[in-house]
Amino acid sequence: MGDLLVNRLKNGIVIDHVVSGKGIHIITLLAEKTAGHRVILLQHAESRKMGTKDLIKLEDVKLEDTDLQFISLFAPNATVNFIENEEVVRKHSVKAPEMVSGLIRCPNARCITNDPGEAEFLVSRLKRVKTGYICDYCEQVWTTKTYPDGWSANKVGV
Ligand SMILES: [Zn+2]
Repeated sequence: MGDLLVNRLKNGIVIDHVVSGKGIHIITLLAEKTAGHRVILLQHAESRKMGTKDLIKLEDVKLEDTDLQFISLFAPNATVNFIENEEVVRKHSVKAPEMVSGLIRCPNARCITNDPGEAEFLVSRLKRVKTGYICDYCEQVWTTKTYPDGWSANKVGV
């Protein structure tokens, strides 16, 4: 069924190998980009590699590098397929970045990186640790478990 969905997409994006149950977060994440477009989420699909996985199909949607970076935070090891005229023209293997700068805010409201007066000059710099990302300034840990839905509040510029 997964293959059928990939093959039937004329132009757009297929995000494959998303951790089971995390697809809905990716869709929330890309809500602005996908407004007015057809979106298919296949949850808990069978996967030889992962047991079960989520698969997302976005019709006529284009993704930028920033979008791919956001996806990497919530779906490390996902595959992003760029489809044009029913052909995969580019395959991007998502990798969680070692460091995140300017993408998400430090979860510590009192952290200097969240000071509105400083926001123009400082962005959160978070380093990857086992459990998520740790703030360079106050060492507060950001995880997708702590912020499964509240990520957008942490997104810089939104
Ligand atoms: Zn901080």
